[in-house]
Amino acid sequence: MKSLLKIGFAVLLFSSLSCNKNEQKKMVKEESHEMEWSYEGETSPEHWAELEKNSDCLGNRQSPINILDINVVEDDNKESVINLHYSPSTILKKVRNNGHSIQFDFDKGDSIAYNKINYNLVQIHFHEPSEHTINGIRYPIEIHLVHQSKEKYYTVLSVFGVEGEKSEAIEEMESFLPLKKGEEREINKAFDLSRIFPENKTYYSYGGSLTTPPCSETVQWVIFKNPIVISLEEVLKLKDNMPLENYRNEQPINNRLVYLHEL
Ligand SMILES: [Zn+2]
Repeated sequence: MKSLLKIGFAVLLFSSLSCNKNEQKKMVKEESHEMEWSYEGETSPEHWAELEKNSDCLGNRQSPINILDINVVEDDNKESVINLHYSPSTILKKVRNNGHSIQFDFDKGDSIAYNKINYNLVQIHFHEPSEHTINGIRYPIEIHLVHQSKEKYYTVLSVFGVEGEKSEAIEEMESFLPLKKGEEREINKAFDLSRIFPENKTYYSYGGSLTTPPCSETVQWVIFKNPIVISLEEVLKLKDNMPLENYRNEQPINNRLVYLHEL
């Protein structure tokens, strides 16, 4: 309340053109806060590069992309196969509504190995509908499992969801909802991540970017070809807790290759 009064006071001073330097600073801060990126209107994806001056959002290795099966390169190099060795006792630390998605944070300790590099599991979040498309098809849900290496490179695993039977794993995650924008809830409970992957682990991979500002082009994407099944109610519950259509549009693939790893 106090801060609201202060802002009100600052606005008053600003409009009367008699504000001192400190009050001006406060106004600038307020304005920049209002210009935080979003998925609609003046702060939608088309404006991210203007909003985040030092971002990679206009780069030529951006994500998401549309994956066309006719263009993928089959990769049978066993060395490049991803090793998902999550522990069933991975601790789900907390969940928060960060205003862009519902994000689950994990305790340090769990990791994956990809191309002989270790990436630590950081967080999981959701997009509704999906950001990546396969042969032009957009799925109802895309789950991103974000992993980061010591050198700050990312591997993001992506799992699509289609509507059907309910998923016990998603049901459990959603039991901590609803959350309003900015709200978070402590969980501190073991969660077996292997339950949110499709049985057949055939995947696509390509080099791209974060799909949100600063759109850093430091991401190795691993996208599972087969979706998991989750219920319509589960899709709708996620949708109710996130901005409407929190996905970035397809980005040009340029000269990049997309690999297919049949498993
Ligand atoms: Zn994401």
